[in-house]
Amino acid sequence: MSLTLREALAASPLPRLEAHLLWQRVLGVPRAWLIAHDADSLEPAKIDAYRTLEARRLAGEPIAYILGHREFFGRDFLVTPAVLIPRPDTELLVECGLRAIRDVREPHVLDLGTGSGIVAVTLALERPDARVRATDQSAEALDVAQKNARVLGAKLLFSFGNWYDTELGSKQFDLIVSNPPYIDARDAHLGRGDLRFEPRDALTDGADGLRDLREIVRGAPDHLSPGGILCVEHGWDQAAAVRSLFLRQGFADVASERDLSGIERVTRGCMPT
Ligand code: GLN
Repeated sequence: MSLTLREALAASPLPRLEAHLLWQRVLGVPRAWLIAHDADSLEPAKIDAYRTLEARRLAGEPIAYILGHREFFGRDFLVTPAVLIPRPDTELLVECGLRAIRDVREPHVLDLGTGSGIVAVTLALERPDARVRATDQSAEALDVAQKNARVLGAKLLFSFGNWYDTELGSKQFDLIVSNPPYIDARDAHLGRGDLRFEPRDALTDGADGLRDLREIVRGAPDHLSPGGILCVEHGWDQAAAVRSLFLRQGFADVASERDLSGIERVTRGCMPT
């Protein structure tokens, strides 16, 4: 039986946007094409291909993993289940980092726990004069980040290792950024929705959610130049705790910034000169 796109969309239990995204993938067309051609009849093989993707989505798999990419800061990034799905909140971390190096020429930048590389690659592309290094303790994640850098034409250095546990040299960075795992291991959200499919190690530190943040803040003074800045992303209820970690470590100008939902999502501090 032949089916038109309009009929197929009406029959799909998925929200319209998600169904459109999957049809775009199956047919290899932009969204506008779907709208203009919704009375065309579909080949049975295409309907089967759609149903396979739809079943994965109905089983809970995130759209970004099914499609294999996600937009961040206006660019398209490859994503696999080895890395977190880029979140719009993390654009704030990039903005904070860009502001921190605005007046520094050829800044040295370090991204700890880069995952898909969205933060490091975006900083490298927004600041072509920067020397950006990205680390991760997951070889699979580094592979995704390297592919993103290559596809988007960003030049960066990659190191394999846990936080500062790679050959970084001392006191050389003008900026350190990180979006570490910060969800409390007991948080029920880890068992719900898209989070069930994301790498657990990238979401939670297996402890109270502040363990990796503590390690990052504690190690930063050894790697930041005088006047260098640390910017970290954290959870909705962690800003005060993170600011006190910064202060205890001797950072100056410590402040948190709010994301689009009004939540204090990024904290920054400066190494005294
Ligand atoms: N922002 C993510 C979330 O709340 C968590 C990402 C992270 O732990 N870095 O789902």
